[in-house]
Amino acid sequence: MKIGIMGGTFDPIHNGHLHLAQTALTQFDLDQIWFMPNGMPPHKKQSSIESDIHERIAMTQIAIKANKQFYLQEYEANREKISYSYKTMEHFRKIYPDDEFYFIIGADSLMAIETWIHPERIFPTCTILATYRNEVKTKEEMNRQIQYLSEKYHAKIRLLETPLMPVSSHELRASLQSGDSVSEYMPAAVCSYIKQHHLYR
Ligand code: ATP
Repeated sequence: MKIGIMGGTFDPIHNGHLHLAQTALTQFDLDQIWFMPNGMPPHKKQSSIESDIHERIAMTQIAIKANKQFYLQEYEANREKISYSYKTMEHFRKIYPDDEFYFIIGADSLMAIETWIHPERIFPTCTILATYRNEVKTKEEMNRQIQYLSEKYHAKIRLLETPLMPVSSHELRASLQSGDSVSEYMPAAVCSYIKQHHLYR
């Protein structure tokens, strides 16, 4: 099976995440996408995460419910330690040796990936699917980074062609705090959950 891994803090999950996953699924003919909320991401301060892991899991579950090829993957959420991508991916490789993994990321993650712990151990476990984001808007810039990483680490990285999706969790948190509408950026059911649970106030 060809499995896409969509990891994130999902604080909250938004249409950018969902659209990225759907594009990967279609463009690379994947069988499943695993949405994997991170309990303790190494690159974000714990204090900057506003919703607890149970709320982020619930919002993810609600957001992916309608798509039969989208699954919740709780491996990182259940770990009490910081989750490093290389360890998670080596774990998946070990327990699912017959499947192929595709690690789906935006340009901010592609540009920062060398600062992650043991990037050289992530690349052998999967193909990276990377797409544009505000930081890197052009195909030339993306291709330059892809070529650099491919040569340095023998990484398998493919460009995901999508229009820019101008949405991020931190902007949505700010909008929610100031009482602005966010309904065009996330599924209605996630909006309702946020309201019901008084999140991001
Ligand atoms: P924050 O604004 O809090 O940093 P975020 O919107 O970047 O959050 P994450 O959950 O940290 O969301 O993102 C998970 C992954 O999804 C990352 O690889 C990120 O690059 C990618 N991603 C999120 N939003 C977009 C988007 N609008 N376009 C492209 N990639 C995105």
